[in-house]
Amino acid sequence: MYYQHAEDTIAAPATPQGMGAIAVIRVSGPQALSIVNRLFPAKDLTQVPSHTLHVGKLIWKSQWLDEVVVSVFKAPRSYTGEDVIEISSHGSPLIVQRILQALTEAGARMALPGEFTLRAYLHGKMDLTQAEAVADLIAAESEAAVQNALRHIRGGFSAELQQLRNQLLQFAALIELELDFSEEDVEFADRHALKQLLDHIDEHVQKLLQSYAWGNVVKHGFQVVIAGKPNVGKSTLLNALLNENRAIVSDIPGTTRDTVEEFIQLNGLLFRLIDTAGLRVSEDVIEQIGVARTHEKILQADMILYLFDVTQIEASEWEQAFAWLQGLKKPYLILINKIDLQSELPEFVHNTPQTMMISAQKQVHLNELKEKLVEIAQQGRTHGEGSIITNARHYAALQKVKQGIQDVYAGLEKNISNDLLANDIRKCLHDLGEITGEVTTEDMLDYIFSHFCIGK
Ligand code: GDP
Repeated sequence: MYYQHAEDTIAAPATPQGMGAIAVIRVSGPQALSIVNRLFPAKDLTQVPSHTLHVGKLIWKSQWLDEVVVSVFKAPRSYTGEDVIEISSHGSPLIVQRILQALTEAGARMALPGEFTLRAYLHGKMDLTQAEAVADLIAAESEAAVQNALRHIRGGFSAELQQLRNQLLQFAALIELELDFSEEDVEFADRHALKQLLDHIDEHVQKLLQSYAWGNVVKHGFQVVIAGKPNVGKSTLLNALLNENRAIVSDIPGTTRDTVEEFIQLNGLLFRLIDTAGLRVSEDVIEQIGVARTHEKILQADMILYLFDVTQIEASEWEQAFAWLQGLKKPYLILINKIDLQSELPEFVHNTPQTMMISAQKQVHLNELKEKLVEIAQQGRTHGEGSIITNARHYAALQKVKQGIQDVYAGLEKNISNDLLANDIRKCLHDLGEITGEVTTEDMLDYIFSHFCIGK
C-alpha cells in the first residue's frame, strides 16, 4: 500500500490529539513548499533558505485559520529526505482539523501510519532497524527501553550487522577467488582458517540471539507474579511498591479485568507486577494456582513473589509452597509479611536466601526487596557491550542466518563444491540484509510501518 503513491505530498498531525499549547502538523513531499505556500500569503516559502522559521497567518478560501510558525526543511536535509514543512499552530483540535482539511484541498493527502519514517527509510536517511527503533523509542516505557532504542537509532545495531556482513563477505571473497581458479584446483583459503572465520561469525550471531531474552525484559518489562493466600497482604505490597515507583505506561495489550497488573520502574527497568487476587477461586492457593488462567500467568512470569502472613503460617502450606516454587524452575522470593505484628518465625520456616521478612503496611525491608528484584532481573543480562535484540523480526532473521552458517559449515565438512558454498553464503547475506532493509518486500514494509502511529 505504501509504494504506490511515493510522489504524493503527505500531511498529518505530529502531536497527539487533544488540546495543548501548540500542535504540530507535518507536511512532506515534492509539493510541500508550494502547497503550504497557497495557505501562507506572508512569504514565498520556495524562496526562503532551509532550516528557517516564519511567522504568519494561514488563510484558506479567504478564511483565517490561525496564526502559525512554519519551519522549513528543504530536501535532502530533513527527516524524510524530502521537502518538509512543520506548521506549529495553536493546539486546538478544531484548528488542526481545519488546517489539515485546507492542506488536503490544496493538494496534500493524509499520511498513512509511519509514512514519514518509511520515506526517511526509502530516501536512505536510516536503515530499517533504525526506523523500527523510532517506533520503539516512541513506545518506550522505561529508561532501559529508551536507551536501547536510542542506541539502535544512532546505528549501533546497524554497525554490528555491517560488521557481520563484512565477515561473511570476507568468507565469500575467499571462496569466490577459488571459484575463479577452479580449473587449476588451487586452495587460497585453507579450510582451517575458513572454519575459524565461520566460528567467529556464528559466535557473533549467537550472542545477538541470546540477547533477545534480555531484550524482551528491556522492552516489555520483567514479569513478577505475586501469589499467596487471601489477606496475606498482596495488594498492600503492590500499592506500597507503586507508591514511589509507578511507571508511566500506556495501554498494554493483554491486561485483563480479572488480574491486577501494575507497572513500576526500578533502576531504569520496567517491572510488570501481576496480583493473582482476581483469579481466586478457592481458599487453597496451591489448588487455585492450578486454574488455567493463573497457571498461564505463572508460566509467562519471569519470577514469583510468594507471600505469607507471619501470624498465620501453617506448616503444610509452607512445605507445599516451597516444593511448588522449587519445581517451577524460575526465580522466586518467599516474603514473610506483617513482621510488625510478630517477629518470631515458626520453627518449620527455614531462612533461605530466597526468604525475606517484610511489612508491606509499615514499609519494612521494602528497599531491600526492590534491590533484590533488580538483582534477579539483571541475572538475565547475558551479554556485554553488544547490541540487544528486542524485535521478533530481527530475531527470526538472525535464526535464519545462524541456520545458514551451520549449512555452510556442514558443506565445508563434506567438501562440497565452492559454487554451492558461495550460494549458501549469499543466502546468509540475504537474510542479514532483510534486517537492515537492504533486501525487502512490500509486504514486509507494510507490516512494519502499519504498526507506527499516524504522523511519524
Ligand atoms: P491480599 O488479600 O493478600 O491482597 O491482602 P491485603 O493486602 O488486602 O491485606 C489484608 C489485610 O492485611 C489488610 O487489612 C491489610 O491492611 C493488612 N496488612 C497487609 N500488610 C500488612 C502488614 O505488613 N502489617 C500489618 N499489620 N497488616 C498488614
